[in-house]
Amino acid sequence: MAEDVQCPLCGTLAKRDTLKSLDGYRYACGECGGSFEIGHGAQRLAERGQMRPDVVMAVRTLIAEGKTPRIELEAVQAEFTVLPDVK
Ligand SMILES: [Zn+2]
Repeated sequence: MAEDVQCPLCGTLAKRDTLKSLDGYRYACGECGGSFEIGHGAQRLAERGQMRPDVVMAVRTLIAEGKTPRIELEAVQAEFTVLPDVK
């Protein structure tokens, strides 16, 4: 069931579903142009205000290409990584 929450990328109101895998969430954000997924680690960083503008840009570009990107946190360096399409 979708809940109304702030988009972790842009802060506007978005729809969020928990993934069946429980490995994060799927968001649908009008401001960002569509749907994307985010893992728990990346979500936590975003909630702390540490989302990076280049990650937002990369995700929006992929959405505009019709893809469903996924943002994860690379464990070793705690860096955001964007998987291009998890559809
Ligand atoms: Zn957004």
